[in-house]
Amino acid sequence: MAELITIAEAQERVLAAVRPLAAETVAVADALERVLARPVNAEGDVPPFPSSAMDGYAVQAGPAGRRLRVVGESRAGAPAELALGDDEAIRISTGAAVPAGAAVIPQEEVELQDGLVLLGATVQPGAHVRPAGEVMRSGQPVLEEGSRIGPAELAAAISAGAATLEVVRRPRAAVLSTGDELREPGARLRPGEIYNSNGPMLDALGVLAGALSLGARQLADDPAATEAGLDAALGSADVVIISGGVSVGPHDHVKPALAKLGVEERFWGVALQPGKPTWFGTRGDTLVFGLPGNPVSAAVTFSLFVAPGLAALQRRRLGDALASAVLGSPVARNPRREQAIRVRLEHMNGETIAHPNGPQGSHVITSLVGADALALIPRGEGPLAAGATVALRPLIR
Ligand code: AMP
Ligand code: MG
Repeated sequence: MAELITIAEAQERVLAAVRPLAAETVAVADALERVLARPVNAEGDVPPFPSSAMDGYAVQAGPAGRRLRVVGESRAGAPAELALGDDEAIRISTGAAVPAGAAVIPQEEVELQDGLVLLGATVQPGAHVRPAGEVMRSGQPVLEEGSRIGPAELAAAISAGAATLEVVRRPRAAVLSTGDELREPGARLRPGEIYNSNGPMLDALGVLAGALSLGARQLADDPAATEAGLDAALGSADVVIISGGVSVGPHDHVKPALAKLGVEERFWGVALQPGKPTWFGTRGDTLVFGLPGNPVSAAVTFSLFVAPGLAALQRRRLGDALASAVLGSPVARNPRREQAIRVRLEHMNGETIAHPNGPQGSHVITSLVGADALALIPRGEGPLAAGATVALRPLIR
């Protein structure tokens, strides 16, 4: 670890290494949270036919006082195939096709007398009719390239006639947890053992950040096992996320294994607490993140470095306006490293207050539970006072 770089510099190096993924075609219903690689245009008019905005009667426009004979019904999905005379009315429901040239008078505005409809008011041409193409015209652009597909975009694309969408492929993420001390959830622990919580956590974080999970594997602290596990992951993943084994201890085998496998180092060491030994490199277009083993360090460095990389691969827009908050209580500063503390946010009198979420040690996983964001505490001597303005960064959770 020659020289520690800043968080911002590390993020820039990640983004500089990203080549956005290619497009693929998916069924529109499977496109949630994906990014459009090709715009969506309306395949026809929406609505496709003039349709009624009300329950009532379709009639020809004209003066009040007319008595009209009810000659049929147009229901949603079952149009009345009738021409409508001046003295005729058709019972109509919301969304049903309106006969050519007709208008609609709402049910509440008519009287029924001897089976005839009595019009109490003038009916204006086009009243209560949604013209064909009012929402979208055939061929009109509906969603632009780069749009994120949320529920509303799904509905708009389907209304426009799309059955499939061209979206950016999801990055395949492989998670590798190194450590001889690690055991499966619920295992009976022998002396010196702990549960492997990083594997499932990082896999889950990847999924929340839009990745396709290739699963989480565990690697022994042994050069051959580390190299074999990394080799397999590099062969199948767009993003390899390793936890542990990137420090300077005698059982940290990740960096030499990556070097052997041709992964080029882009940085090692960030002036960040927690997360100092974070490592990043690339082989071809594959991104490789070596995150520290302490669970909080792993989660924090995922949010700061892996998540922006995953977003950029998917051409997801990163949050533009970076938020800030007022510190709710004093925080001891680190003289050499910026801190990313886990905070709960409280909104009061137009201000956002960031409360440190309990003890902030890099092993205290509970500091992440219920946290809303990361607050950046600049390096310095002595405490940063309550009331100081701090920058916030998103916490994937
Ligand atoms: P390392 O970065 O490998 O030196 O690990 C730093 C600390 O994180 C040690 O206390 C490890 O036991 C712990 N740790 C490493 N990997 C995991 C994991 N997958 N789950 C939970 N704790 C871990
Ligand atoms: Mg270890």
